[in-house]
Amino acid sequence: MVIQYKCPDCGADMVFDSKTARLHCDSCGHSEVIEDYEAEDFQPFEQHFHTSAFEGGEARQYQCNSCGAILLTDKDTTATTCSFCGSPVVLGDRLAGVLAPSKVIPFAISRKEAEAAFKKWCHHGMFMPRGFKQADRIKKLTGMYVPFWLYDVQGHGEAFAHCTCIHTYDEGDVTVTKTSHFNVYRKVDARYSNIPADASEKMPDSLMDRLEPFDYSNMKEFNIPYLAGFISEKYNYTDKEMFPRIQQRVTDYMKDYILSSIAGYSSVHILNCDCNIGQRSAEYVLFPVWMVYYDYDHSEYTFAMNGQTGKIAGRPPLSKAKVIGSAAVVTLALFIICRIITVLMGGPVL
Ligand SMILES: [Zn+2]
Ligand SMILES: [Zn+2]
Repeated sequence: MVIQYKCPDCGADMVFDSKTARLHCDSCGHSEVIEDYEAEDFQPFEQHFHTSAFEGGEARQYQCNSCGAILLTDKDTTATTCSFCGSPVVLGDRLAGVLAPSKVIPFAISRKEAEAAFKKWCHHGMFMPRGFKQADRIKKLTGMYVPFWLYDVQGHGEAFAHCTCIHTYDEGDVTVTKTSHFNVYRKVDARYSNIPADASEKMPDSLMDRLEPFDYSNMKEFNIPYLAGFISEKYNYTDKEMFPRIQQRVTDYMKDYILSSIAGYSSVHILNCDCNIGQRSAEYVLFPVWMVYYDYDHSEYTFAMNGQTGKIAGRPPLSKAKVIGSAAVVTLALFIICRIITVLMGGPVL
């Protein structure tokens, strides 16, 4: 099931507009409210075949409604553009049933804004090589809706610790040290909401984690027109498969919280700290990410930008000369400060 939104006034393709959060026709300026579109329920579409072009995967055949060309898509694609006519295409059958996202955070940053923000970020990079900072080698800028699971979890934690409080006071000529010993116990029940984990195998977890936080107050009920004009993929891992990652993450939060509550002692010795994390629910959501592919010095660098907040993640190359130069400046400054202190304390003037 191929879905393409045509402008009722001029027939051109309509795409999601990040400024107005509406479907917009760039040809005549007509726009439509997305919430007015009925959420459609598609039956999975079984026409598919295998091809060597996608090693180990399964490609499917769709037909573009605009130009009639046959579209070959990667098995995970849910929204793309027709490679022949450039028309935005959404694959409705891959957004149905268990593959139907429940919520979406729409793009708030347009392609133009993303490009400008990335260039500005490069420009301000202190240790980036000069050639990289010019940011004129953006090879590709792709607006992607990345599949995430958003968890609601219940945590139960217990900690035992041995703590001491040491008081020292003078009694006549004698200094008395009094040590009080405490067996400390903490029991915490906590509920954590909206903990995200990206569910796409192609997206590096480390990049996606660093795009947080997303602002959930602008999360919308999912509707297909949000995807028009962007690339989107379905999840590769179920919420159950991703849960161990969440368990680890929430266990770390809880332990930090419990241990921070054992305060005010002279010494703290943690004997045991255990947490049990259980899943209450998980929602399938799509988050907006601009992927920036950048060529520099015969290598490709990949960056990700939060499509809602503009936060950028990725490792730029470092200029060795700048790093060594700034280390030299710091060393010289430390040397001068040491000399001044030596002279002030009566040392020799070199
Ligand atoms: Zn139009
Ligand atoms: Zn086409």
